[in-house]
Amino acid sequence: MTLRLFNTLTGQMDPLTPSDGEALRMYACGPTVYDYGHIGNFRTFLQVDVLRRFLKLTGIKVRHVMNITDVDDKIIRNAAAAGVSIGAYSAEFEKAFFEDLDTLGVERPEIIARATEHIPRMVELVQRLAAAGAAYQTEDGSWYFRLAAFPEYGKLSKKDLSGMEDGARVDLDEYEKDSARDFALWKAAKPGETSWDTAIGRGRPGWHLECSAMAMEFLGESFDLHAGGEDLMFPHHENEIAQSESVTHKPFARHWMHVRFLLVDGRKMSKSEGNFYTLRDLLLKGYKASAIRLALISVPYRHQFNFTFDGLVEATSAIERLRTFRQRLVGGGFAPGENSALQEAALKAQSDYIAALANDLNTAEARAPIFDLLRAANTAMDQGQLKSGDRDAILAVLAEFDAIFCVLEDRDAEATQRALEWAEQTGRLNDVAPELLTRQGLTDAAIDALVAERTQAKKQRNFARADQIRNELAEKGVVLEDSKDGVRWKRK
Ligand code: AMP
Ligand code: ZN
Repeated sequence: MTLRLFNTLTGQMDPLTPSDGEALRMYACGPTVYDYGHIGNFRTFLQVDVLRRFLKLTGIKVRHVMNITDVDDKIIRNAAAAGVSIGAYSAEFEKAFFEDLDTLGVERPEIIARATEHIPRMVELVQRLAAAGAAYQTEDGSWYFRLAAFPEYGKLSKKDLSGMEDGARVDLDEYEKDSARDFALWKAAKPGETSWDTAIGRGRPGWHLECSAMAMEFLGESFDLHAGGEDLMFPHHENEIAQSESVTHKPFARHWMHVRFLLVDGRKMSKSEGNFYTLRDLLLKGYKASAIRLALISVPYRHQFNFTFDGLVEATSAIERLRTFRQRLVGGGFAPGENSALQEAALKAQSDYIAALANDLNTAEARAPIFDLLRAANTAMDQGQLKSGDRDAILAVLAEFDAIFCVLEDRDAEATQRALEWAEQTGRLNDVAPELLTRQGLTDAAIDALVAERTQAKKQRNFARADQIRNELAEKGVVLEDSKDGVRWKRK
């Protein structure tokens, strides 16, 4: 099943397959590590994770590059304020970023490239641009891209840039449409700022340059897909195209994917608006990592997503249903054979699920057939109509679901525990929901062990110990349900 994905560049749904017949070469803009990521940022990383997981599920090898922007205006400003080097400053937030990706079940890209480790490639690109007449140096030693040298500028964002002032310059990393001007490739060293001594002078790279240089270094001059949040379309991605195509005269990326913003009360979630939640904020409020993942991926990437706490509650109960369902299938005893209606239902769920994802990664539509199957199978189990062959078929569908959604394995307690430890180390315990503090300390494995001990105690007719364990678990917010298929537990 070939994925059809909306392509910002062509304005239509295009099939996405590896152009070299081997691996899909993709580049997704990574974080600027100047602070903790907010869940808007993670929405974008999660949607790219959905993309790569889907490609892999359909048998496509992926070569995915992500940059780490570890030098930029904001990092320089914050590191100076903190009185530390930019390396020391950004290392802490880079580490936090990867911990957060792990918490959210985001797979690591095949290649992770830090901007500061690829300065020579950036310098080389500026030299090539200068040789092509597309870059010039100003008196202070900075280098700019000459917009007039690239008549196709604007082809990605389809902005009307006709009012652009010829030769006017902008040296901020981020700017609005009104300042579509010659942009800084390389910024001359300023006193007190980190800089590199290079063949094009002493200075540091602009943000846009790093992505062009590293994408081409790892993926070649022309590759399959470039992704990022919708804010990057202009100027960042437009600038990447200009910098790259001016020297290669080849299409930089064939396919461009842009993830729409996460909004809060109709406004974009952002640091500058002050209306943001970090992943850690939500974990400390008592929301589970898996629920945050599910909520953030369940709205398809091309829709704006209005964040609400109700959405997290809905995701929490959806995951609970799925996990309980799987436990019931795994733990139950079923007669041999197959129920043809359930076999058909499993096949249909599987094909509807894949078809929804293949249609521009429609995660919302992909969820529905899985829950239909869950309802049909639960009813059949209640009536003793589910056979062992059905269990196997349904578990296989659940495994395919989880290859993308990745919420069935319960790693939530560990994630919450990590967030609590971090809160303790950084003096944030005041932000922690009170019920969470009483719940800490019980990992899933510890609960499983206690449940097994209780089962054993009951077998030996040691009901006092069995009750004691039940009460201990209840105090920590874990409830047990005895059923004919064995004991199930869940956190309240
Ligand atoms: P940054 O660390 O600011 O460079 O952003 C990392 C990624 O998050 C980029 O792809 C941004 O486009 C994306 N991003 C930033 N804010 C949001 C938001 N509110 N919703 C979705 N993606 C966002
Ligand atoms: Zn980028």
